[in-house]
Amino acid sequence: MTSIEQEVAGYYDKLLKRNAGEPEFHQAVAEVLSSLKIVLEKDPHYADYGLIERLCEPERQIIFRVPWMDDNNGIRVNRGFRVQFNSALGPYKGGLRFHPSVNLGIIKFLGFEQIFKNSLTGLPIGGGKGGSDFDPKGKSDGEIMRFCQSFMSELWRHIGEYRDVPAGDIGVGGREVGYLFGQYRRLANQHESGALTGKGLSWGGSLVRTEATGYGCVYFTNEMMKARGESLSGARVIVSGSGNVAIYAIKKAQEMGATVVGFSDSCGWVETPNGVDVELLRDVKENRRERVSVYAEESTGATFHEGSGIWGLEADVALPCATQNEISGADAQLLISNGVRYVAEGANMPSTPEAVEAFRENNVAFGPGKAANAGGVATSALEMQQNASRDSWTFDYTDERLHQIMINIFKAAESTAREYNREGDYVVGANIAGFKKVADAMLAQGVI
Ligand code: NDP
Repeated sequence: MTSIEQEVAGYYDKLLKRNAGEPEFHQAVAEVLSSLKIVLEKDPHYADYGLIERLCEPERQIIFRVPWMDDNNGIRVNRGFRVQFNSALGPYKGGLRFHPSVNLGIIKFLGFEQIFKNSLTGLPIGGGKGGSDFDPKGKSDGEIMRFCQSFMSELWRHIGEYRDVPAGDIGVGGREVGYLFGQYRRLANQHESGALTGKGLSWGGSLVRTEATGYGCVYFTNEMMKARGESLSGARVIVSGSGNVAIYAIKKAQEMGATVVGFSDSCGWVETPNGVDVELLRDVKENRRERVSVYAEESTGATFHEGSGIWGLEADVALPCATQNEISGADAQLLISNGVRYVAEGANMPSTPEAVEAFRENNVAFGPGKAANAGGVATSALEMQQNASRDSWTFDYTDERLHQIMINIFKAAESTAREYNREGDYVVGANIAGFKKVADAMLAQGVI
């Protein structure tokens, strides 16, 4: 072990002890630290002033009670979180997740990833994340509204245009952002559009924000394919999930000439050998809030299968767009043996370390989430720009900005990997490019 490797191992041991029981956070940090060893060997000043240790410690962690009343007048109590991880580049920025699996470790992993992702966008935003263990499934509209109002009754004092700007994530879409913004506006007694993103179009939202993460993931995939002389035209694509990210990844992939051969939810997956009827899917999921099995019942040529077997489909490209650790090492081997040559993460950390290693060993072009799904937060930052200038841009102009940002992120990951003799390794490239910008800002701003 070199002395730098020993130092990094020392930080990581300490982190494990101080953050016990948070495996997803450990996983996210381990991946970034493994990429940073080569930076620290080349530029040891990045280890000065406790930089790495400060980077891995959130600036602030807020945990709060969220009491609310259900439709039977029963009192329910959930837990709310906001982790304000790093504001060296700009106000904390990152979504809110409502899902029963949410705990502090999940929010810390997401907030940590967000620091590097936001840095890669080239826009002035820091990293944060929040959410609750509230399960929106099966709740009435009134229950969702009361929950959101109670959640914001605590969160509002911690956020703001220049402080911390939440948005959506799993379980938090346009409806929830509406209820959250309404309560913020009431408590703050001002219409501060820049305090939340993902808003409705008539009250400060941006065109393309809804589509941005899915579209951006496909734009990134297209760049990876171009680098190997291929294109999406005629390609077969698997997309996991059927939420916001998945739906618009499916739409854009098909617009670019691909056939999406399957998608899923947490109950099962739908095989669509002739492609996906996006309007039907949007109606089933966005309007009726139904399961994907209903899509299969109502469409011709699609079949529903229970369970998580989607990774057994034959395809050229896989876009995991559901949740963390949804591709195991065995799933990755299956994808590779079925012909997959490109993987881009629409979700955050959907590939386990074993899966990432399998992709690397088999020369699968792999776009990590912090690069491939950065289009969502980038367009949120474009929404903030429009709010600050009291302007609203056209769909085409905003989409062009998003497209260019995704090309730039690809170029940054690609050229940084080459600079460190790891050509084609977009994990290392994205981690280092994202890190350097934040690290330079932290070093310039002193020990805080
Ligand atoms: P949605 O809530 O809109 O959709 C989530 C989808 O993933 C649903 O189909 C859901 O199925 C499935 N899913 C969620 N949890 C699980 C689970 N534990 N097991 C299996 N399937 C699951 O969320 P988004 O589309 O917004 O987010 C998807 C991913 O993309 C997340 O990792 C998120 O962090 C990431 N992301 C989102 C961004 C955004 O702009 N929205 C930006 C960047 C990243 P079911 O309905 O059955 O639960």
